Order: sequence, then structure tokens, then C-alpha cells
Amino acid sequence: MNILVLNSGSSSIKFQVVQTDQELIVSDGDRCLAKGQIERIGSLALVSFQATGRPPFKEDVPLRDYRAALDRIVRWVISPESGIAGVASMADIHIIGHRVVHGGEKFRASVVITDEVLEGIEDCIELAPLHNPANIRGIRAAAEVFGRGVPQVAVFDTSFHATMPETAYLYGIPYHLYRRYKIRRYGFHGTSHRYLAYRYRVLNKIPKENVNIITLHLGNGCSACAIKHGQSVNTSMGFTPLEGMVMGTRSGDVDVSVIEYLSHKEGSSLPDLITMLNKQSGLLGLSGLTSDMRELLEEEKENDDRRATLAIDVFCASVRRRIGSYLAELGGADAVVFSGGIGENSSAIRQRICAGLEALGIVLDEARNAALKKGRPGEISESGSRVKIFVIPTNEELLIARDAFRAVSGLPQPTFSPRKTRKP
Ligand code: ADP
Repeated sequence: MNILVLNSGSSSIKFQVVQTDQELIVSDGDRCLAKGQIERIGSLALVSFQATGRPPFKEDVPLRDYRAALDRIVRWVISPESGIAGVASMADIHIIGHRVVHGGEKFRASVVITDEVLEGIEDCIELAPLHNPANIRGIRAAAEVFGRGVPQVAVFDTSFHATMPETAYLYGIPYHLYRRYKIRRYGFHGTSHRYLAYRYRVLNKIPKENVNIITLHLGNGCSACAIKHGQSVNTSMGFTPLEGMVMGTRSGDVDVSVIEYLSHKEGSSLPDLITMLNKQSGLLGLSGLTSDMRELLEEEKENDDRRATLAIDVFCASVRRRIGSYLAELGGADAVVFSGGIGENSSAIRQRICAGLEALGIVLDEARNAALKKGRPGEISESGSRVKIFVIPTNEELLIARDAFRAVSGLPQPTFSPRKTRKP
């Protein structure tokens, strides 16, 4: 089966075509046939596609909306020009899988999209006003382009974290606010953390129940997850993706009183202050230069830039602190797993994060860390390290494709049920 995996953002679509079925899932032989993205939808869009093992295709073309962008993707995917074996017409795309950011408390597993499911996703717009509307536009565009005959499946960023106990997801605010408005921690990047837990157990040939690890997704957005017996028991993002560790442009944890104080001092509106915390903070705000970790590392090296170093150090400290707190939460862990653009590619940042964690049993092997090939998973801890350290490239698209296949085929798939610690 060929699954078109779509990740629709505010003005972009990323896609992959993934070949999967039950046999391929069991043998771990499913594969990406093509991938690409369109940015700046609504104006002169930047198109960048590539079929596996073939040269990239790039063009700048005006694309009015999501429907036009998806049309462009599909026309390329089925064209002889893309050269994707076994995909020559729209009938060769069997299922569409969507990344959906927020599933609230309602969606604890991936689901085939019906009118009722779409309404449920719309109900979650209040909780994710920046993300769910774009996901819904992607779903509607796919229904227009493919018609109702091609099933669509929603895979939620939040569902893996539905197993968090109340002690992890409740804020210390009046309980009726949770009851009335569902104000709680939801967590995001769930499909990435789930993939890392899955790949860790495959690499180590252990059953799911034995997966007791801390996963770190460090990209533009950053989140950590404490995983016990293969299930998420805590994660660093909260009601929105703003909470947690320092990120590219997001502040992570901040005393909320800062907002009131700043509104008095600078006369800023509430939406402006929230935008500042989401878009002008983190690595960008601290350095005053860029949110891009690679550029910060270059600035530090070439120009000895003090603010670049400061931003990197604050970032690494926030990740280190989170590792420590999750070791306490889990009562010890078997491994720490690095992933995301920074975690997968930067041996220097991995080293800076792990420095000082030796007393907790986390000992990095510098030679292994430096020698790890980009894009490959591997262990980078010293052989005697009590807590192992791994790098695992994430692959959310693979799990979205597998979930989509299973949901449409009526096969059992992972569901994430909440744990009750006690009756309120
Ligand atoms: P997103 O969260 O948007 O998917 P990515 O996972 O691609 O983003 O991560 C982007 C981040 O990864 C950027 O800060 C980028 O600088 C960083 N990054 C990518 N490659 C490297 C590298 N070789 N060294 C340091 N940082 C890197």
C-alpha cells in the first residue's frame, strides 16, 4: 500500500510517500518512496521534492492555497518525471495520513477521518489555534483532490502522552479550571517520542514493557519525554508547545508573572507578549542573532560571540535539568535518546548537554559521539555507563503511515489510555 503522509503547517505542506503493509511492518521493511515540501503557500511558493535515490526537483511557482499546493504534489508524485516505481496514477495512492497537532482528551489513538472526527478536530481548535486550522485545511484539500473514495487518517501529536498520570498532567491551579476548560498539560511531538521508543526497543531487541528511557526531541521545537514500560509518563511541553525546555524561538518555562510585569512596563498587549514568548525568545532571543543552532555554533567558533555562547549554554542547561528531573520521575532510566535536527546532527551539543551528568550514571564516549555517522542510529555512551546514551534519527512519517494503514485495515493499533492515580 502507498500512503501519502501530509504535515500541513500555517503556510507550508511537508509530505512523504511511504510504502507499507502488515508484512512490511512486521519485517520493518516499509520505506519512503519520495518526500518533499512546499513553503510559502499563498504567494510565490518554494517547491522542493525528491524521490528516493533520484535527483531533487525544485521550482518556484505561484500557488494560491492548500488545494493548489496538494495538486502540485500529486501531479509530481504520479508523473513519469518523479520516477517513483509503482506510482503512476492517483489510484496508486491508497490512503492519506495526516499529522494533526492537537487531539485534546478525545483522541487517544489514530482514527479514520469521518465528518464526526473532523468536527472533533475542529473542537480542538480552541486548544491549538495556531496548528489545528492548518491541519484541517490539509484534510479538506485532500478530500477535494482525492474525493471521498480515498480514506484519510488523523494521527495526533498528543495521543502518545494520553498515558500520563494526573500527577504529571495537572497544573497546580484550581481543579475546576481543568474540569471546566480542560486546562492541563497535553504534550506534543508524541509521534516522534513514540517512534524513538519503538526504534530503541528494536535496536536493543527488548519487549516494549522493558523500555524505560528519556527521549529528547531537539529541533526548532524541543521536548523531552519520560517513558516507562514503553508509555509516556511525563513530557516537557504542556497546554501548548510553549512550555518546557528552551527552544529555537520559544522561551520554555517562564514565571507567568513576567507577563503582567512586562505589560505594565512596556504597555504590551497580552497577544503581543505571548507572541514574544513563542517567536522572539529561546535561542533567538538570548543570542539576539538567530534561532538556528548550527549558525550559533559557527558564530561562537568564528567570532567568539559571547551571546551565542550564552544562548547555547542556557539551552544545554535546560535540557540537562530536564534529564535530571526525569531520572527522578522514572526512578532511574536505562537510556537517554537524542533526536531532532540538533540531537541527531550536533555531537558538540550532545557533549555539552551530557557534561556533568556522570554522577547520575550518564557517561558519554567522546570518540563514539564524534564518530557517529549522520542519519544513522547508534550508541554514544562509554561501555560502563549505567545509563546508555543513544542517537536515533526520528521518523514520524513512518509511524503516521503505519497507523494510517492499520486504521483503514481495521487492524489493532496502539491506543493510549490515561492512568488514574486516584479519584478526584
Ligand atoms: P523542526 O523542529 O522544525 O523539524 P529540525 O528537527 O530540522 O527542525 O531541527 C532544526 C534545528 O537543528 C536547527 O536549530 C538547526 O540549526 C539544527 N541543526 C541541524 N543540523 C545541525 C548541525 N549539524 N549542528 C547543529 N545544529 C544543527
